[in-house]
Amino acid sequence: MQRILSEKAYREAVNVIPGGVNSPVRALKSVGASPIFIQHAERDMFTDVDGNNFIDFCLSWGVFILGHGNEKVKAAAIKAISHGSSFGIPTEVETELAELVVKSVPSIEKVRFVSSGTEAVMSAIRLARGYTNRKIIVKFDGCYHGHSDSLLVAAGSGVAQLKQSSSAGVPEEFTQLTISLPFNDLDSVKKIFFEYGKSIAAIILEPVPANMGVVLPQAGFLEGLREITLQYGALLIFDEVISGFRLGIGGAQERLGIIPDLTTIGKIVGGGFPAAAFGGKRDIMDQLAPDGPVYQAGTLSGNPVAMSAGLQTLKLLSTSDFYQDLERKTSIFVARLREITKGKGIIIQQIGSMFTLFFSEKELTNYEDVKQSDLNRFSVFYRKLLEQGVYFSPSPFEANFMSVTHTEAHLEQVLKSVEKALSQES
Ligand SMILES: *Cc1c(COP(=O)(O)O)cnc(C)c1O
Repeated sequence: MQRILSEKAYREAVNVIPGGVNSPVRALKSVGASPIFIQHAERDMFTDVDGNNFIDFCLSWGVFILGHGNEKVKAAAIKAISHGSSFGIPTEVETELAELVVKSVPSIEKVRFVSSGTEAVMSAIRLARGYTNRKIIVKFDGCYHGHSDSLLVAAGSGVAQLKQSSSAGVPEEFTQLTISLPFNDLDSVKKIFFEYGKSIAAIILEPVPANMGVVLPQAGFLEGLREITLQYGALLIFDEVISGFRLGIGGAQERLGIIPDLTTIGKIVGGGFPAAAFGGKRDIMDQLAPDGPVYQAGTLSGNPVAMSAGLQTLKLLSTSDFYQDLERKTSIFVARLREITKGKGIIIQQIGSMFTLFFSEKELTNYEDVKQSDLNRFSVFYRKLLEQGVYFSPSPFEANFMSVTHTEAHLEQVLKSVEKALSQES
């Protein structure tokens, strides 16, 4: 496969954009490849500037559960643009989308829209601190909550590929109020609460982590977190920026039956445009300005184009059987993948329509497990898939996503490519 024009585009980009990319993982550095520049995407595929086609399992990090370029979503966005694309003055579509979010997500009684997941989490944390009048935040190693200062501690996703455990430029003092613990380890949570319980504002986590690859919460873990936060008067925040509208219309909380106090959503909710949100119980959300003392704002927050695309997307997801059908397709595909990879030191972890392939002999339950998987073997395997036109998310610290548009023929092609890539291992 020739990628001459992508390489040229990359050379031009690195002159004026750090690393040539506007978000680090896109550089494909961790898998020893160079970035692919996209020309066009439709349904389950994208075409690069050289005319190569790829079957896409990244889908803009899970955004396109309906596949790229859904006609109805596109039409909704275009219609919104025709009326003006931003006003800094309210529009009715914001309320319409808010109503649908409130109806869909069990914990959300009121919701505020922002422009990115990072902003949603940052604001939810401020709100939790303002509401409880406490300072400490507990998070878990390998969970990613965007790139705000106080959350760049043992974070997953792209941060997992830094040499140090956090980012340069974040003073120690800024993370002193953040405690990061191993995922699935309820005992360590209990110990921390025993010691600092009355100063802890909130526990934040991805209820089903996707940013250390897909890792599942063990039986009793989320229940235990709910219990201990209630006991000490701390808030429980579910970061469902990925799992929201992915693991069901009500996200992981509905699927697993644990209701947090605050929830952040993103990715799918903007229908491919910059939008995210945070929401929760009425009395907590009412602490926000202009009604309450916790300040939060945004020039493009609730942008009508993003709101319209998000609204149309959620409407399409709200049809009966949507998730059932998508998950059945994913489970059949993953079962086939497991057959092909049997006896080769590979574990595939899946829930709903997301999965990660790890080079590991045993099940992975936390960040340490993922770091100990064979990252070099993943890189070699990844590049072989890429050569065959299969675009998986480019690290074992990420998830792959199925869309309704992935065809059986394409999935067969992917299975053949995986078989071929493994047969070429030395
Ligand atoms: C992607 C993601 C974020 C950050 O969202 P951005 O829109 O990239 O700022 C936060 N939390 C989780 C769980 C995410 O997957």
